[in-house]
This record gives sequence, C-alpha cells and structure tokens, in this order.
Amino acid sequence: MKKRKAAFFAVLLLVILFAVPVMADSMSDILPGAGAARNVFTERDLTQLLELAKQQSPEVPEAGSPEEQGTDAAEEGGQPEQEQQETVKEETVQAEEENTQQEETREEEPVTQAQPVTVTGGSRIVCIDAGHQLHQNSGQEPNGPGSSVMKMKVTSGTRGVSSGVPEYQLTLDVALKLQSVLQARGYTVVMCRTTNDVNISNAERATIANNAGAGAFIRIHADGANSASAAGASTLAPSGTNPYCPQIASASQSLARCVVNGLCAKTGAKNRGVTITDTMTGLNWSQVPVTIVEMGFMTNPTEDMAMQDPSYQQKLAEGMADGIDAYFGN
Ligand SMILES: [Zn+2]
Repeated sequence: MKKRKAAFFAVLLLVILFAVPVMADSMSDILPGAGAARNVFTERDLTQLLELAKQQSPEVPEAGSPEEQGTDAAEEGGQPEQEQQETVKEETVQAEEENTQQEETREEEPVTQAQPVTVTGGSRIVCIDAGHQLHQNSGQEPNGPGSSVMKMKVTSGTRGVSSGVPEYQLTLDVALKLQSVLQARGYTVVMCRTTNDVNISNAERATIANNAGAGAFIRIHADGANSASAAGASTLAPSGTNPYCPQIASASQSLARCVVNGLCAKTGAKNRGVTITDTMTGLNWSQVPVTIVEMGFMTNPTEDMAMQDPSYQQKLAEGMADGIDAYFGN
C-alpha cells in the first residue's frame, strides 16, 4: 500500500514538473504575472509535495537525534543501555540518596523486557516511601541485616537548583498524589510518611513495607548531578547476588522496569533505565519487591521547574501507577 502511494506521488510530481510550467507559460501570454506565479509554485509547493512524498515512502528513514536513538535502544535492553548506564555513573552524584561511600555495584541489564509477576492474595498492597524528611538523621544503622557496614539513617537529599524546593518536599507531594491514584485504582496503600517532620530511618521504612506485606514497595526520590544538563528518570533495584535480599531481586528488577517505563511514557521524560545496586539500605532491608524511583534531576533547571508543576506531578504519579499496574499484570 505504501509503495503504491509512493508511486502515485512520484507520477504526480512528474506531471506537475512538466505540465505546470507549460500551463504557466501559456497563461503568461494571456495574464500578466502568471510566469511569476509559476516560479512561486515551483519553489514552495514542489518542496511541500516532495516532503509529502517522502513521508509516504517507507524507504525514507525518520531522522532522530542520537539521544532519541539511545533511549530507544535502551528500551530493548541491549548494549546501548549499558553505555547509557556508564553515563549515569559519571553524571549522577545524588542517585546515592543514602550517601554511601562505597562504589555502587552495577551489572549488565537483563536483555528481556519485564514480565508481569504472578502474585497471590494481599499483593495489591503498595507501600510508598516519600524519600528523606525535614531533618536528616546522621545516626548510623547497618547497610543490611547483619551487615557491619554502617550508614546514615536518613540523609538530607538534594534541592531544586531553580525552585529551591528540598527533595523531601517534592517526594512527599508526588507520594501523596500516587497514594490517591493507586487508591482510586483499587490498591491498598501504606504510607511510610505523610508529613515532613518525621524521623524514620531507611531500614525502618523497609520494615514498614515488610510488615505491611506489600506486593510492591515504591521509594520516591529525585536525582542530582554536577552537570545541569543531566536529565531523565531512572529506577534502582537490587542484584541477584545481593547478600541480603537476593530472593526479591528478580521481582524488584521487573517492578523497576515497569515503573520507569510507565513514568517515562506518561511524562515524556528521558528514560535512563534500571540501575542495579546493592548499596542502598532501604533496598537491602526490604523483603518485598522494591524499587527506588529517581523521578528527574533537581539540578536541571528545566526538570526542576517541571517537577514543581502540579500537573506534571500528577503525570509522574499516574505514570508510576501505570507501571505498578503493568507489574501486577493488570
Ligand atoms: Zn533522594
């Protein structure tokens, strides 16, 4: 069908190229200025027709920026994603929202797309943790059950470079919206916090999700980087060789994949994919499928201001909920 259309436009072009100049020449004998009209026609309308013919032809590939191509490739989980993650590693300084001093473990992304997991009764419970809190807690806690590595209980998080809004406020704003969206879709929602002035460590937040028997634990954060141009959303999940919670690695990676894809599809944000890490206290203490969502960069002026827009926050919440739906196989 497309080939026939392309052929039709080719013939149409030929007719126009030959017939119109002849007609215009004849017209110019009768009407003054018809010759000039011919020139206008050939310069403007032929260009449009050529464009139209190009759009109809399947042989002409769509031009895309390297950035777009990288994102598309990342969706397939191939080699470009690995390269993309290397970039994340260089740019991201606040993805380590728990401010670990350790080098983050990053593994190659599984090549398969996330599949909905089979879940049983009570699984439609989602625990939401709005990352950080009004005051950081510099007390220490083990990085995982039985770990001798100690980390800060709650760090201060990042802050909007243009808005000046602290991360803990943004994460709460979006967490409350996500709560409403999920409840409207029939989920039972457990919130780690609904106000800023709390004191709940990362391990304690994971314990809340564990005790709730959550089918998914969504930890909401925002990113920061040295470069103001770093942009896009990513999610984090533990590896299959995590020493504390290897049993939830596969489901968590699936959840992470679904959520970042849902978020980016809804908001149009750049998809930075899933980062595998075993250094996050709030992941390591979790016994239920968990992901950290880095919604965007507060160090990017454009993304920072977008994330302060209530309608964009709503899209973030709906996109995450779409991902949660996909994870549960709805
Ligand atoms: Zn954070």
